[in-house]
Amino acid sequence: MSGRVVIVGAGMAAIRLAELLGSSGSHAPRASREADDPGITLLGDESHPPYNRILLSAVLEGTHSPDSLAMQVPPYADLRLGTRVVEIHREEREVELADRSRVPYDRLVLATGSIPTLPPIRGLVRMDGRLHEKVHAFRTLDDCRRLSAAVTHARNAVVVGGGLLGLQVARALSVRGLTTEVVEGGDHLLRSQVGARAGAILARDLERLGTTIYTGARAVRLDDRGLTLDNGYTLDTDLVVLTAGGRPSTALARRAELEVRRGIVVDRHLRTSDERIHAIGDCAQHGSQVTGFVPPAWEQAGLLARHLGGEDISYDGARTVARLRATDLDVAVLGEPEKAEGQVVEVSNPISGSHRKLVVRGGVIVAATLVGDLSRIGLITQHYDRATVLGPHEPGDLLMGERPTTPVALPDEAEVCACAGVSAGRIRACANFEDAKATTCATTGCGGCADAVRSLLAARPLEGTRT
Ligand SMILES: Cc1cc2nc3c(=O)[nH]c(=O)nc-3n(C[C@H](O)[C@H](O)[C@H](O)COP(=O)(O)OP(=O)(O)OC[C@H]3O[C@@H](n4cnc5c(N)ncnc54)[C@H](O)[C@@H]3O)c2cc1C
Repeated sequence: MSGRVVIVGAGMAAIRLAELLGSSGSHAPRASREADDPGITLLGDESHPPYNRILLSAVLEGTHSPDSLAMQVPPYADLRLGTRVVEIHREEREVELADRSRVPYDRLVLATGSIPTLPPIRGLVRMDGRLHEKVHAFRTLDDCRRLSAAVTHARNAVVVGGGLLGLQVARALSVRGLTTEVVEGGDHLLRSQVGARAGAILARDLERLGTTIYTGARAVRLDDRGLTLDNGYTLDTDLVVLTAGGRPSTALARRAELEVRRGIVVDRHLRTSDERIHAIGDCAQHGSQVTGFVPPAWEQAGLLARHLGGEDISYDGARTVARLRATDLDVAVLGEPEKAEGQVVEVSNPISGSHRKLVVRGGVIVAATLVGDLSRIGLITQHYDRATVLGPHEPGDLLMGERPTTPVALPDEAEVCACAGVSAGRIRACANFEDAKATTCATTGCGGCADAVRSLLAARPLEGTRT
């Protein structure tokens, strides 16, 4: 039991932590005893109720309404929206809010996320310090609403940055009917996650879907003529969307003199250099790693909930899973396939638009890239997570064999939901789809597992299942 827990940021990591603190029993009972003193306080500077950030591109695309993104906030948590924390007073164990009031804590958790970086493009920022009227960031629901409104008056758009977020946004704008171009400074798309061959297949897929890709080119100037690239091209455009990366939001931690490198440095207990202060999600750095994706943020939230409930935990930062959520564009990346050492087993089919790569060390999958065909993702993730030692033919069979993994055939231990780390067996134990959502959080992240969850539930023998 850790006393009063104050969580700064009411984003995806924070809400998951609040929920798990309650379900572990360490905080919810106290809430029911002391209604005025819930024991968990969430301080978030955005004014909207917490929402699923991954699905912002689905809102932009028009397939989801903003309301459908709402995340369930546990009733026992004291959620304060529009509340910016400006200072941490470590000696007094209090945080100070923008209105100068203070909130005491026994344990403080920083879950402040990341902030988008502005690429060095002349004309991006106006004299008054605001962004040029054509320019949009894409991180918050407010950004999404502004961009969505602008799309209705636009014919074309340029997305600056060919990473996961850039590709999501480009697909959404293209589905909305805009002529869309992507400018990426690196020599291929998704260069932080995948190799050149996979990047080229993705570029071809996007071009087939109507999006033009400029790689190895940097946007350098925005003016009345359009967005000029360093190769001399000028792209006439109504909108410029910035998706060129982000950095951990660390200002608060720096001011409090916590150890900060790229992110807020945490140890295996997800503890900062102050033992009463923890950090999780996009703002945290463990070893040399900052993450930037929901699966590791939720894994950290799960471990920290157990730690605050009194368990000994050890976070090793090993599990990084990235999944692209975009219509007609499927990408999953486990670990760091371009950095991991090991033997590479790779199958590329530019004609069908699929690329699969495993990096195997000592028979164990240490990283993987899947583009186009994700039918084997469940099995590969299972082997990756469990560090299964594979026989000499198995990596090749995993990539080449007949589609082995219709969801129905998955063994109970196979992972179905990468965001929340939920196995097929846990889904099979649920009464129905809503029950699976509520009890396991499967489908509540990127939503990519929703069909698999439905198939698993539909295929259960009726006997022995709950109704
Ligand atoms: C458009 C978009 C699409 C994405 N798609 C995917 C995807 O498909 N798959 C994937 O795995 N990941 C995706 N991500 C990344 C994913 O959303 C993040 O990894 C995840 O949200 C991290 O959770 P977090 O709680 O650390 O940060 P966030 O969810 O960003 O929450 C941090 C919150 O803290 C608030 N905050 C910051 N400072 C303060 C302060 N001083 N006081 C109070 N509040 C503060 C912020 O305003 C924010 O609301 C996407 C991100 C974006 C922006």
